Amino acid sequence: MDHFGFKQGEMYVEDLAIREIADQVGTPFYCYSTETLIRHYTVFCEAFIDHDFLLCYAVKANTNQAIIKTLAAQGSGADVVSEGELRRALKAGIPAQKIVYSGVAKTEREMTFALEQDIFQFNVESVPELEQLSRVADSMGKVAAIAFRINPDVDAKTHAKISTGKSENKFGVPWTSAREIYALAAKLPGIRVQGVDLHIGSQLTDLAPFAEAFQRIVSLIEDLRADGHDISVLDLGGGLGIPYDREVSKPPLPLEYGEMVTKIVGHLGCKIIIEPGRLLVGNAGVLVSKVIYVKEGENRKFLIIDAAMNDLVRPSMYDAYHEIVAVAESEPPVSGDAVANSVTYDVVGPVCETGDTFARDRQLPELKRGELVVIRSAGAYGAVMASTYNTRRLIPEVLVKGSNYAIIRPRPDYDDIIGLDKIPEWLD
Ligand SMILES: *Cc1c(COP(=O)(O)O)cnc(C)c1O
Repeated sequence: MDHFGFKQGEMYVEDLAIREIADQVGTPFYCYSTETLIRHYTVFCEAFIDHDFLLCYAVKANTNQAIIKTLAAQGSGADVVSEGELRRALKAGIPAQKIVYSGVAKTEREMTFALEQDIFQFNVESVPELEQLSRVADSMGKVAAIAFRINPDVDAKTHAKISTGKSENKFGVPWTSAREIYALAAKLPGIRVQGVDLHIGSQLTDLAPFAEAFQRIVSLIEDLRADGHDISVLDLGGGLGIPYDREVSKPPLPLEYGEMVTKIVGHLGCKIIIEPGRLLVGNAGVLVSKVIYVKEGENRKFLIIDAAMNDLVRPSMYDAYHEIVAVAESEPPVSGDAVANSVTYDVVGPVCETGDTFARDRQLPELKRGELVVIRSAGAYGAVMASTYNTRRLIPEVLVKGSNYAIIRPRPDYDDIIGLDKIPEWLD
């Protein structure tokens, strides 16, 4: 559920008309809903109410300080994948003891910084990384609490670029050799084994791959305990998908996910960590854009909007579907159905790439220059993946709370972008 809806023929976010924000901020911009964020956080927590439980928001989905801070105020922890993200999480007020550090290749410098902060857990992804962490921790007189990220070799049945739990993916240690690797870790200085971790992919719309992977992990934990390891933490990763196309896709709800988890791993008595990213922020954000031109192609109509692939890369990178709706409309279109007075458009941006296409053959009400559209479900992996390609300025981010809004990242000036380049003395 989200707090973007239609009132009196136009789209609102919480108690504010999107058109009003657009008038003041200018387009394009990202717009997030506080209520939606909090709701998503709360439904996850309710699904795990019977467990010793920590939700570690995967901050890479949306690293804006105001977003992290909103979740931190609810009690959220963080899953980070770089020193930069660790710094962002700490700065937004997430205590180090609620932070887990994932990622295939933490560097010595990153390990040092994380050890200085005393984070809750390192999710280690290989033997060389383990040995490096042992050397760094031992030299600092510290002990790193670790889990290994186990690659359970299951097919997450999601897009190939966001599938991470098959044996051919670069992530984690193979579940078949996990016992030997834990035995090695137990002997190393500066290392304390405390848990098991996995993350099999993103935008999963079916519980079956999760269940299959978790079952493998349960038998592994039983083996590891028999081998004498004290396994008290089970980090199940993120990956639960969201309905990008609400008419077609109905991914499992957090409650159903929680029930499945309880059934499979509940008896282990572990502290359970989950690392959702997309599910918390995806549908809590939209991208608001304006029609620049309507162009008649030979046999198609192009709706050219002022947002582009550099602002939201998911359609061109992952072939992702995003609902697009007109802001001045009484009802959003139902995908697949013919809408009265509708026109079929290819919705594209101004960037010089054919891949700069948000949607093909999309039915929308007839739109004119200057009218607003909203690209839905853009809160996750949107702003964080933006670039300045074509020397376009990063677009602002706006956070709404009730009838208030704040610009949580302003639009930079052109000088801010061009001024980053430095001229060598021989050209001066
Ligand atoms: C990206 C990532 C997540 C979050 O995935 P979502 O699909 O956004 O929930 C969680 N854990 C790890 C290790 C990740 O890399």
